[in-house]
Amino acid sequence: MSSQEIEVLVVGAGQAGVAMSAHLTERGIRHVVLERGRIAERWRSERWDSLVANGPAWHDRFPGLEFDDVDPDGFAPKERVADYFVEYAEMIESPIRAGIEVLSVKHNEGSPGFLVETTDGALVARHVVAATGPFQKPVIPAVIPADSGVLQLHSSTYRNPEQLPDGGVLVVGAGSSGVQIADEIRRSGREVYLSVGRHDRPPRRYRGRDFVWWLGVLGKWNMSTPPQGAEHVTIAVSGAGGGKTVDFRSLGRSGITLVGRTNDYRDGTVRFAPDLGQNIAAGDASLLALLDEADAYVERNGLDLPDEPEARAFGADPVCVTDPLLELDLKAAGVETVLWATGFRADYSWLPGGALDAEGRPAHQRGVSAEPGVYFVGLPWQSRRGSSFIWGVWHDASYVADQIQIQITYASYENAALAAEGAAR
Ligand SMILES: Cc1cc2nc3c(=O)[nH]c(=O)nc-3n(C[C@H](O)[C@H](O)[C@H](O)COP(=O)(O)OP(=O)(O)OC[C@H]3O[C@@H](n4cnc5c(N)ncnc54)[C@H](O)[C@@H]3O)c2cc1C
Repeated sequence: MSSQEIEVLVVGAGQAGVAMSAHLTERGIRHVVLERGRIAERWRSERWDSLVANGPAWHDRFPGLEFDDVDPDGFAPKERVADYFVEYAEMIESPIRAGIEVLSVKHNEGSPGFLVETTDGALVARHVVAATGPFQKPVIPAVIPADSGVLQLHSSTYRNPEQLPDGGVLVVGAGSSGVQIADEIRRSGREVYLSVGRHDRPPRRYRGRDFVWWLGVLGKWNMSTPPQGAEHVTIAVSGAGGGKTVDFRSLGRSGITLVGRTNDYRDGTVRFAPDLGQNIAAGDASLLALLDEADAYVERNGLDLPDEPEARAFGADPVCVTDPLLELDLKAAGVETVLWATGFRADYSWLPGGALDAEGRPAHQRGVSAEPGVYFVGLPWQSRRGSSFIWGVWHDASYVADQIQIQITYASYENAALAAEGAAR
């Protein structure tokens, strides 16, 4: 690829890049999508083997293409999700070039657009859309030193229990990834400790409808900012085993030892905050609040959905909750692995500084950055709660494509009188 000029460069061909390409194609805007790996690479190589989509197939998809071989109320396996995006890209004949990494995007000094360095040479692009993912670089908090003698890995490099050395496992983080991974490792016959922080846990289904439906009709996917005080609260939900409500008490009864938030480590011992009961109670409260809103919605609209009072019954707390462990001597407990399901951060250092704030985070409004010509798509909360999810990114990409089209229209403006004068001269 040598110094060619393109109208729009989309960086990354995950769901965000594919959605962007679909909307640009629809508007007749010339573009290229560069992907350093394969289409939907993160679904293939940065997620565990048994992962299925967190949302049912009728919901977690783009308009215009269904999962033809997955029950609409079922949960597509992660390879099937990746195949779906390949299928979609083929359907729209998306100009994706795989195996090319974008290394840097700089001002094209004295000329419009940006000079883009890639692993396959340089090009010039008038507009650049960063679609490199909401979850890019694994975050492992600096708690346990690297030379502590236990294996430490992040949920993005976990594949299956067989990959781990013999012995027990401490899983830190009880969002969707942590709970599913802890459950899978426990089922493989290992000793498992699960460190549980603040979380929301919606019911998988209530009164015959999946929680994604309830969040939709209650307007919760459209919230524009996280509720105050809950900015960092993770959501524990799972499609595993046909989809069940995440229930910490039953995880405790299955033999997983639940512990509070992981605080620190000294001389081989990890210490936990005494907040396990509080975190579980807050998760219960979030579930009950959603049930209340769902019931009110049913009543207001006179819907004929079956009552489900048992959704409010939580059962007895297991001993690990009533008498929580506050420290764990890893060696004495036979724990050989600490698995961090503690989230991700982003790296946009390859973009011009004007597109970023002082902390290096995207400086943008609904994906339109402060640097004219640079856009984002697929950011968490880009415009609403649904933004980083499959169905949400579709709508944000449409908005960003509109903004690019507006700029192309401005750029093509010619003053008719001046043009006529020029022609007469
Ligand atoms: C464990 C897990 C489960 C999830 N399950 C669901 C779910 O069930 N339903 C749902 O709606 N959402 C789910 N999500 C959230 C979200 O849908 C995914 O994170 C999804 O992968 C985001 O898609 P994306 O296209 O925005 O980013 P990504 O999938 O991260 O794609 C970004 C792409 O950019 C490429 N790239 C990065 N840097 C460069 C570069 N410099 N040059 C070229 N290419 C580059 C990467 O290789 C990658 O292919 C899940 C997230 C996780 C972590």
